[in-house]
Amino acid sequence: MTDSSSDKFATRAIHAGQHPDPATGAIMTPIYQTSTFVQKSPGQFIEDYDYSRAANPTRTALEQNLASLEGGKHGLVYASGVAATGAVIHLLSAGDHVLLCDDVYGGTNRLFHRVFQQLGIEISLVDMTDEAALAAAFKPNTRLVWLETPTNPTLKIVDIEAVARASKAHNAILAVDNTFASPVLQNPLALGADIVCHSLTKYIGGHSDCIGGALITNDTELHNKLKFLQLSEGAVPGINECFLMLRSTKTLQIRVQRHSENAMAIAKHLDAHPGVEKVIYPGLPSHPQHELANRQMHTENGYGGMITIYLTGGLDAAKRMLEKTRLFSLAESLGGVESLIEHPAIMTHASVPPEQRKTLGISDSLVRLSVGIEDVEDLIADLDQSLA
Ligand SMILES: *Cc1c(COP(=O)(O)O)cnc(C)c1O
Repeated sequence: MTDSSSDKFATRAIHAGQHPDPATGAIMTPIYQTSTFVQKSPGQFIEDYDYSRAANPTRTALEQNLASLEGGKHGLVYASGVAATGAVIHLLSAGDHVLLCDDVYGGTNRLFHRVFQQLGIEISLVDMTDEAALAAAFKPNTRLVWLETPTNPTLKIVDIEAVARASKAHNAILAVDNTFASPVLQNPLALGADIVCHSLTKYIGGHSDCIGGALITNDTELHNKLKFLQLSEGAVPGINECFLMLRSTKTLQIRVQRHSENAMAIAKHLDAHPGVEKVIYPGLPSHPQHELANRQMHTENGYGGMITIYLTGGLDAAKRMLEKTRLFSLAESLGGVESLIEHPAIMTHASVPPEQRKTLGISDSLVRLSVGIEDVEDLIADLDQSLA
């Protein structure tokens, strides 16, 4: 047997949810590529499995592993991050009200406003760094509060404990999308959140080769409802995806540490660069919520791999930079081992109405970096030549 009860993240990452295969001793959890499972007698399963939409051993290993990394009792995985988000929204009924943090991930914003609003879900966008604004936004029918921290792309830090207190006082469920921080840098359940949501596509997968989502909770009643929805809606990942994700969590901590180390060096370098007006990075003391980041994040592992910069020039300067980088690839997404660069106003946040983009500070001179784990001197040289 392997020990997965350690209080150390790196050990749980490699062992939690996993056992040598009982049939062969294979150390890696096999890819149980099967849709159905033979029964001993009608309704009597050999193990806990009857049909792979309901459960599959490779998926179970991943679900238990992710639950452990978030310090949660229960984990569920999905075909994508937005499928996981959709499952949470299906806990609601028509007439319920949701508080959504104002610079929430574009796909989350679209799902709430363009799919669920027409089914009778009421939504308010709130700047959750503003406690008074948050307190004023609750309504008697508020059932769900949804936040991300750090936010995308302006990397605001939201005080999870404060929002959890307010949500509890109003009997609302707090769900935290922890994709940007990853469980290496932040564990929202320990700060009072009811559900943690992940896009596994980003840091957890980490290699830009598969799509997936997860929900983790300590609340067994909530888990049972979500499990029922997972079975009923069927937005489950393929078994190969589960295997790849499970393989990825083993290196999650060292990857995030290197992403963070590289990002810190790049943030400091760009902060002193004449072509850059402002660098937003939670690890810089100039970040407005640097102290809060230190309090609620596991900053001994760093401050993450995402950096947002405002260039001194406008759209033309941004386009020039984005066309000239050689190591930083011009692409959406984030969290993979390779460095990416993108222009939120034209790319990831194009669907956000211009007025809202303005309020959020997503201007034409804003550029977002997802810093990879390449050699940091090469990365800095690439950014320097692209800004020259
Ligand atoms: C990518 C992302 C999602 C959506 O995940 P998919 O796996 O693309 O469906 C949700 N939240 C955040 C913060 C993301 O970056």
